[in-house]
Amino acid sequence: MLSNLAARDVETLIHPYTNLATHRETGPLVLERGEGVFVFDTDGRPYIEGMAGLWCTALGYSNGELVEAARAQMARLPFTHLFSGRSHDPGIELAETLKELMPVPTSKIFFTSSGSEANDTQVKLAWYFNNALGRPEKKKIIARQRGYHGVTVASASMTGLAGNHADWDLPLPGFLHTACPHHYRYAEAGETEEAFSQRLADELEAMILREGPETVAAFIAEPVMGAGGAITPPAGYFAAIQAVLARYDVRFIADEVICGFGRCGTWFGGQALGMRPDTISFAKALTSGYVPLGGVSVDEPLYEAMLDQSRKLGSFGHGTTYSGHPVACAVALKTIEIFRREGIVAGVAAKAPHFQARLAKLAEHPIVGEARGIGLIGGLEIVADKASRRQYDPKAGVAARCVAFAQGEGLIVRFLAGDRVAVCPPLVIAPDEIDALFDRLTRALDRTRDWIA
Ligand code: PLP
Repeated sequence: MLSNLAARDVETLIHPYTNLATHRETGPLVLERGEGVFVFDTDGRPYIEGMAGLWCTALGYSNGELVEAARAQMARLPFTHLFSGRSHDPGIELAETLKELMPVPTSKIFFTSSGSEANDTQVKLAWYFNNALGRPEKKKIIARQRGYHGVTVASASMTGLAGNHADWDLPLPGFLHTACPHHYRYAEAGETEEAFSQRLADELEAMILREGPETVAAFIAEPVMGAGGAITPPAGYFAAIQAVLARYDVRFIADEVICGFGRCGTWFGGQALGMRPDTISFAKALTSGYVPLGGVSVDEPLYEAMLDQSRKLGSFGHGTTYSGHPVACAVALKTIEIFRREGIVAGVAAKAPHFQARLAKLAEHPIVGEARGIGLIGGLEIVADKASRRQYDPKAGVAARCVAFAQGEGLIVRFLAGDRVAVCPPLVIAPDEIDALFDRLTRALDRTRDWIA
């Protein structure tokens, strides 16, 4: 019997990324409050939020300073937009702060309300840029199989997951996908990480040449693939890819929506992985997930082109009502202030060896083929046979079952397509909480193994 709230949920709500048919039977997990790295359901039951919500609640769940920053901004000026040259001080100050933090040459910041909108903006800006430069044929976008960039029409076209394309009439024409850099799954027998990276770079080059370099505008990549399986790139990957992009004047967009703001033990994930993009998309941890905010960095050549377009067209014809919402900007400023004051990024780097050691130990578990990660992000590959790396029949839903067992153990983690389990706790997690997280995850894996047997 579903509880009253659960029954009302089933009758009224459409849930994103949910099997709507089984949801009618299982109902929702209704969460009521949060404290530190814990969330509590309506029965008062605590769970370690091992996914930081959706890779976002970096500072945990009960940060009074963030709440106060939002309250104060709401009381002072709850809304004004940035259209037609209107502005507000938290927006200006946040753009200055981000410009300083960006690890790539940055001229300006453009705000959105989500990661999907940030990546949609990147596509539009790449098109706009090439029109401004008088090369209207240079428009194709290359993303990667298993990459995740969001759900709006252009960002879902860049996403490289079947579930985002099947029956959605996507990807749009002009969006291509090159190979996924998962060494464990896709390397040939005996192929080193470096050789695998070079092979993928060669494949990318062949794709660009096949399409015609004069038609390819941009390449987009996450530092660590998140929703595609928490996949860390093989050694030498970005160096090899960047050499190809530079040869054909292809813009490099880093999707830092998950990895930005400390996740990998550096301010941006690309800094830990040798990425040198032209522009960065960001969202999520920028406000610790407390309010929606995203954005993109704009480099000087792009800004110059945008200026020319305004002179020609009269206006920069892009932006949403909530681009740079003042409450979101105030919360982001406070988030960054706390990050700096409390040394959150250095704290992640200090905790990462312990987290990664506990994660790596799970590779010894009989149903885990690979445990991989960086900083405070980890992914598990569930396999039926460790030697051959054979997977279970997808219909068996083994990773989903593991995640359900974890929930029973008081731990929220996420299953991803291809029998993968992701872990990505709030960055403020304490060492003993890291141990509790992995103890619970180990018990969930044991229960999954027993369930299969
Ligand atoms: N890019 C990456 C790497 C993401 O992980 C996500 C969401 O998980 C997005 C973009 C889309 O962000 P949003 O869900 O805020 O639209």
